[in-house]
Amino acid sequence: MKASAFCYARATSVGNAIELLAAHGDRARVLSGGQSLMPAMNLRLLAPELIVDIGRLGELSGISVSGGCIRIGALTRHSELFRSSEIATHSPLVAEAIAHVAHPAIRNRGTIGGSLAHADPAAELPACMVALNATIIARGAAGERRIAAADFFRGICQTALSPHELLVAVEWPVAPKSSAHFFSELARRRGDYAIVGLAAQAVVENGRLIDFRPVFLSVGDRPRLADVADSLINTVVTPALMSQALQALDEELDPPADQEASGAMRRHLAKVLLARCLAKLLGRPDLCSGVSA
Ligand SMILES: Cc1cc2nc3c(=O)[nH]c(=O)nc-3n(C[C@H](O)[C@H](O)[C@H](O)COP(=O)(O)OP(=O)(O)OC[C@H]3O[C@@H](n4cnc5c(N)ncnc54)[C@H](O)[C@@H]3O)c2cc1C
Repeated sequence: MKASAFCYARATSVGNAIELLAAHGDRARVLSGGQSLMPAMNLRLLAPELIVDIGRLGELSGISVSGGCIRIGALTRHSELFRSSEIATHSPLVAEAIAHVAHPAIRNRGTIGGSLAHADPAAELPACMVALNATIIARGAAGERRIAAADFFRGICQTALSPHELLVAVEWPVAPKSSAHFFSELARRRGDYAIVGLAAQAVVENGRLIDFRPVFLSVGDRPRLADVADSLINTVVTPALMSQALQALDEELDPPADQEASGAMRRHLAKVLLARCLAKLLGRPDLCSGVSA
């Protein structure tokens, strides 16, 4: 299928993009890398009257680290994140997760801003942003807003952005020395969207989790920070506590069924990932015994 007819404007600056969005509201759509927008238009799931192409706004691209904070411009492509030594050093969770985003050709065009604004509940970066306690920066005619990632994702392809706003950047804290991370997803083939995935950021001291943010993808309409994390903080994770936590996770999640997996299968796989995550973070392979995919 082909997209419906639309008008096209190449924004000449961030200010110009915001003016165009203010003038056209929800009849316009921002175009970044086009890796989600163009397929959606070609399938006629979306039919904007105007495309505002921000793809040449160099000011929206780049990775910087200062004052204990990583800032990524919205137009930074997945492949740049993948190759970045700053990301590998200061945010290894993202470095690991990005390898699971689609295929190299898509990673060469797709951007972090597009991925976050698209808000697919099966996408890797939204879950990482919640795990990292990131802040999403939106700009509109009234100025800039800072939105916690946990409040940004509102449902399937729904975010806190208004149609008049541009996502300009995302920031998160540099991983502290005692931090640890885990990323894994279960998909039928590498590069496919995950059936279930888990992105977790933690602080581990003396064999205990001092901070733990396990965020599941593909288990609901948005990234899900598991409540069960609270029961695992500041304590020795015994096999008994582990099995209570897995039971609590089973009760907490209510994932959807689709052609890929039933809800029960997704709940089971989520438990497998949580067990693997704890085993890795705490260096305790015993925590995985008896829990297999
Ligand atoms: C075959 C295939 C496989 C894929 N597999 C995966 C996968 O495994 N994991 C994954 O996460 N994604 C996957 N994707 C989706 C895609 O990689 C990401 O969603 C994509 O990178 C989005 O970035 P983009 O720059 O291409 O966004 P675009 O397609 O340009 O835009 C996506 C949406 O965000 C809006 N938008 C874009 N930028 C901004 C901005 N700065 N401010 C406000 N709104 C904005 C657009 O209007 C549009 O609604 C896949 C896509 C394809 C085609």
